[in-house]
Amino acid sequence: MPAQVGHVKSHTDGKGREVRTAGCKCQGVKFEILRSGDLASEGKWDAHHCFCSDCRLSLGHLLPSFVSVDDDHITWLEKGTLKTYDSNLEKGTQRLFCSKCGASVGKRLASGSKLDVNLGMIELDGESEEGGNGEGLAGVLKEWTVWNGPRFLEETKIGRLGDEILMGMKRDGF
Ligand SMILES: [Zn+2]
Ligand SMILES: [Zn+2]
Repeated sequence: MPAQVGHVKSHTDGKGREVRTAGCKCQGVKFEILRSGDLASEGKWDAHHCFCSDCRLSLGHLLPSFVSVDDDHITWLEKGTLKTYDSNLEKGTQRLFCSKCGASVGKRLASGSKLDVNLGMIELDGESEEGGNGEGLAGVLKEWTVWNGPRFLEETKIGRLGDEILMGMKRDGF
């Protein structure tokens, strides 16, 4: 048996509910995400890739990935360095970032009461040498997220690459 290092790092809050911790490198921004109460989705949150140029340029990735969590399922533990700015392309969208370490935390759409959390903010334990479906990043993705279609795919100029990535994820069971 591999050591416990690979196990997905979720824990329970004061009320015995399953939560995960997320935050930036300097820990100036830190929060807990509570499991979704949606039984139809087995307690998972919706995740998506956003191919809009605002996400690409503000994050500097070709493939920005978010998990959309209801505001009332987020508990802020630290936000002394949290700042926001208005996004251009997605009208009314506010982007959240850490003003100390520069981490991009997520975005909040004008329309809703959800925070789109950058997936990379979620704390991980890493995977054991053997790897495993329930471990590390794959564990977060499989146990906590349901993947929806990408946003703004038509706007991107990476069309075929986007298709390939999505097909690859589907093949791996996401
Ligand atoms: Zn920070
Ligand atoms: Zn976007």
